[in-house]
Amino acid sequence: MVIILLGPPGVGKGTQAARLADSEGWEHVSTGDLLRAARRDGTELGKKAQAFMDAGELVPDSLILDLVRDHLKGVAPEAGILFDGFPRTTAQAEKLGGVLKEVRRKVGRVVVFEAPDETLVQRLSGRRSCPDCGAVYNVHLSPPKQEGVCDRCGGKLVHRADDTPETVRHRLEVYQELTQPLIAWYEKSDARVVRVPADGPVDDVQADFRAAVR
Ligand code: ADP
Ligand code: AMP
Repeated sequence: MVIILLGPPGVGKGTQAARLADSEGWEHVSTGDLLRAARRDGTELGKKAQAFMDAGELVPDSLILDLVRDHLKGVAPEAGILFDGFPRTTAQAEKLGGVLKEVRRKVGRVVVFEAPDETLVQRLSGRRSCPDCGAVYNVHLSPPKQEGVCDRCGGKLVHRADDTPETVRHRLEVYQELTQPLIAWYEKSDARVVRVPADGPVDDVQADFRAAVR
């Protein structure tokens, strides 16, 4: 099963995908995480992506496609895949269709997480991320056991540079302009599109998410 998670920044895509992928043994492919890893490793791609990410702009489609294609080489052909934060433009969606076709796969389900803007802004202002292992916390809603330290790997937690109120507002506009149209685009395809309310507790959202991909 190839599943795409759509929804604005802060709606909980990463949180939900990580949980489901862990329990089912599926591959969680977050292009945001892959880009941040490339930046940490100081690769050419990471350097090219940096300014776009810090400004809350999308990284050019060609760079993203190379990144995804490369990453998929290491994924077993039959593995379940959860795409989180990808595709973000119709051009990316079209290219993804082509890449999947080459390996005789296709998008089975598109899950659209929905929550009001106030919720997103509150969640992102409190988000803390582990740059070493990618774990995500929230100082208000799901803090780590020890302040500033990752429960999972002991890494030092950071407030992402693009989680400031101004950049968050811009990322929401970018989502509405470039990514939201993908919902209608997939509704016209033969993938099933399911909407999941995401403003409740993590466990409730996870239950609805599981029902949506069954
Ligand atoms: P996305 O991947 O969609 O940008 P994240 O999964 O990183 O979103 O979640 C954004 C922030 O909101 C994180 O701090 C996370 O801990 C928190 N969060 C995610 N889901 C919920 C939820 N259902 N209730 C409360 N906080 C949540
Ligand atoms: P995320 O971790 O999904 O919130 O993504 C963080 C940032 O990485 C975005 O604001 C973009 O700059 C970049 N990014 C992640 N995924 C993509 C994508 N599929 N296309 C373009 N830019 C992306």
